[in-house]
Amino acid sequence: MQPVPSPYLVAFDGSFRLAAAETAPPSDRPDRSLLKARLRDLNDVLADQQRVLYADNRYSVLLVFQAMDAAGKDGTIRRVLRGVNPAGCQVFSFKQPSAEELDHDFLWRVAKRLPERGRIGVFNRSHYEEVLVVRVHPEYLEAQNLPVEDPGSAAFWNRRLEAIERWERHLAETGTVVLKFFLNVSHAEQKERFLARLDEPEKNWKFSVGDVRERGHWDDYMGAYEAALAATSRPWAPWYAIPADDKHYMRVAVSEIVTSTLAGLPISYPTVDDAERARFDEMRGLLEAES
Ligand code: ATP
Ligand code: MG
Repeated sequence: MQPVPSPYLVAFDGSFRLAAAETAPPSDRPDRSLLKARLRDLNDVLADQQRVLYADNRYSVLLVFQAMDAAGKDGTIRRVLRGVNPAGCQVFSFKQPSAEELDHDFLWRVAKRLPERGRIGVFNRSHYEEVLVVRVHPEYLEAQNLPVEDPGSAAFWNRRLEAIERWERHLAETGTVVLKFFLNVSHAEQKERFLARLDEPEKNWKFSVGDVRERGHWDDYMGAYEAALAATSRPWAPWYAIPADDKHYMRVAVSEIVTSTLAGLPISYPTVDDAERARFDEMRGLLEAES
């Protein structure tokens, strides 16, 4: 299956440059009320597609969300998935790994959370943290007790990226549709959102001192994101770098890509063959014969 075309699709040839990726929406975007209405329509489309996905029971869909803090991952997940049967959808948020998780390879904990066939799985953060936050803070590798000579070297990160690329290829070949979204918020917009979290009492709970500390490593994060997206955007597991400075535009952009991808998937409600149809008639006869 070919990824759906989009101005935000990250090139497959490793040429991606983050500096050339937009954080602002296009100037001619529809106004807010139109975007909201469009999102509602797409919510309905996705809800219907998920029913077919479930009935077809051959594919699963994995949506990976990565972003700097305050880019809007949570809100995007909530609004893009709104209306989908909760039973058909599984969301996991990946935080700092536990001791048990550190005692396994870095793909173990994410593999355990993959969606079952027929379901949509959402990763709020993911295995990519292992080439993002861990790359920015290579001291985190110490807790991983890796039997390698060169932890934290350029070759080490390239091997990790290759491992991710291969693993995602395996997932795609075995029926998981992998779509990855980098919500690309600007340095200036992140500052505004942090200030809003400090200023508005109902947003205070979202603020964390650590977020400002990580903001201090902005350039290192951008370098890690660029390397990760360039190395792992592939036809079987594309990355989309979505402008995140306007949340309404961003949610619609994500939703369009998800629904267009599902529209291209060869899924359908299972049909009934002649033998089964004959059994149905038999059952109908029994039901109708009840007094
Ligand atoms: P929110 O703040 O919106 O609730 P969040 O995803 O930022 O959501 P937090 O609990 O604030 O959640 O942060 C989780 C932290 O865990 C992030 O700083 C992230 O970088 C870190 N993290 C995730 N995976 C790993 C990993 N494999 N190794 C080290 N740190 C990780
Ligand atoms: Mg956080």
